[in-house]
Amino acid sequence: MLLLIFSFSRAVVKCRLQENLQVQAYLVEIMLTSRKFLMAATLAIFLSFVPYRTLAQTDTPEPKPPADPQIAAALAKISAQRIQANIEKLVSFQTRLTLSAQDPDSIKAGHGIGAAREWIKSEFESYSRACGGCLEVKTDSFTENPMERIPKATVITNVYAVLKGTDPENAKRIVLVTGHYDSRNSDTFDTTGVAPGANDDASGTSVSLECARVLSQMKFPGTIIFLTVAGEEQGLNGSTHFAKMAKEQGWNIEAALNNDIVGGDRGPQQDPGVVRVFSEGIPLAATPAEVRRIENLGGENDSASRQLARYVAEVGRTYKTEAKPLLVFRLDRYLRGGDHISFNEQGFAAVRITEYREDYNHQHQNVREENGVQFGDLLKFVNFDYVAKVARVNAATLASLAAAPAPPGKVRLQAKELENNSTLTWEASPGSASYEVLWRDTASPEWEHDKPVGNVTRITLPMSKDNVIFAVRAVDGSGHRSLAVVPQPER
Ligand SMILES: [Zn+2]
Repeated sequence: MLLLIFSFSRAVVKCRLQENLQVQAYLVEIMLTSRKFLMAATLAIFLSFVPYRTLAQTDTPEPKPPADPQIAAALAKISAQRIQANIEKLVSFQTRLTLSAQDPDSIKAGHGIGAAREWIKSEFESYSRACGGCLEVKTDSFTENPMERIPKATVITNVYAVLKGTDPENAKRIVLVTGHYDSRNSDTFDTTGVAPGANDDASGTSVSLECARVLSQMKFPGTIIFLTVAGEEQGLNGSTHFAKMAKEQGWNIEAALNNDIVGGDRGPQQDPGVVRVFSEGIPLAATPAEVRRIENLGGENDSASRQLARYVAEVGRTYKTEAKPLLVFRLDRYLRGGDHISFNEQGFAAVRITEYREDYNHQHQNVREENGVQFGDLLKFVNFDYVAKVARVNAATLASLAAAPAPPGKVRLQAKELENNSTLTWEASPGSASYEVLWRDTASPEWEHDKPVGNVTRITLPMSKDNVIFAVRAVDGSGHRSLAVVPQPER
């Protein structure tokens, strides 16, 4: 009898795992009514011997929007050879330290950060010529005053290209990809020593460039910015300046993808099938009142940056990118930072994209051999096919977002009364044809369910808001999905 009860309980738990609620309800019902008890017991014993993993594998289906054939075709054009050529060119400047030379003679000689900056600019301009002048190539240049890692006033220049959206209203929405083109060796003040920075971060710079080359051949309602920044190694100076400028000028940056160290270092424990996506939990820019609300309602995993990270993961599945996005629910790695933080600090959704396993002998190191170990951020450690895979993850995300309608505005969850139904309301998003309500268990990392609700701005679902986390996203007529927006409670 004891064995029977044990088997029964296990079977019920398994049905729960499998979300096979009907079978679960059936088991419970017959257990309680004790009718057909023998049959149920037999079934329970059978189920209890099926390994858990088999059941877990048939877990809830992942929402997967259909692939856009045009975006898929663009991804196929991303070239590992082009990426290799770009990284080789960046390494050829010998050092791209932010404090290194940028005078006309050095630029002419092809040495130092000035030469790198001019080359990046000319590269963006060549892509623009190939699309009939569709890219606006710009620089954001400023003088940084002396500070911890900047001994004297230094001109820092970000270089970027804007692919303006074709729809006047949607063109105000900006999605952005960035990498830092400055490099360093062991000494962050060494202005002349070799600092190849092949992985850190010629790889990320080449992602911005290759996304620009390929996506500038397409047209999107929303705007895409392809950015390369300097000053990262000195203290995120370039990205800080850029993000502050964007905030001051009221730019609507919906998403910023920061690629830093995406070279797929060829070390033995690398996983070239995975790329990490780091995202902030409680937003860096949240006010104390906002932090309190987030804590009260269990919103620690639902920052806009984390919705962006989930979007990247979903796009990776939709377009079957060979580097699978691995969500890391953490602002950045231990002891490290990056340019996404500059955007987070200004209240923008931003994530960091980084290879699965870093080799610290190949970062921020003078090129040298010690006891048979090669140090330095050298070309030979970069896996160009991997960088191309990461570029596809980025391009798929940028294209999907720039093609999608704006996320629905003012998403609210009615919380006036105690009730087990949940009512969501939102403001219509221009250009959208319909909406989807998403939800997941509070302990689940990704959205588990997506329900198309048609072209409405209000829906009541027979589910308790206490037990799940909801979000709403907008969908256009071709199936492009916006970022998901988690509701604020309305009392
Ligand atoms: Zn870096």
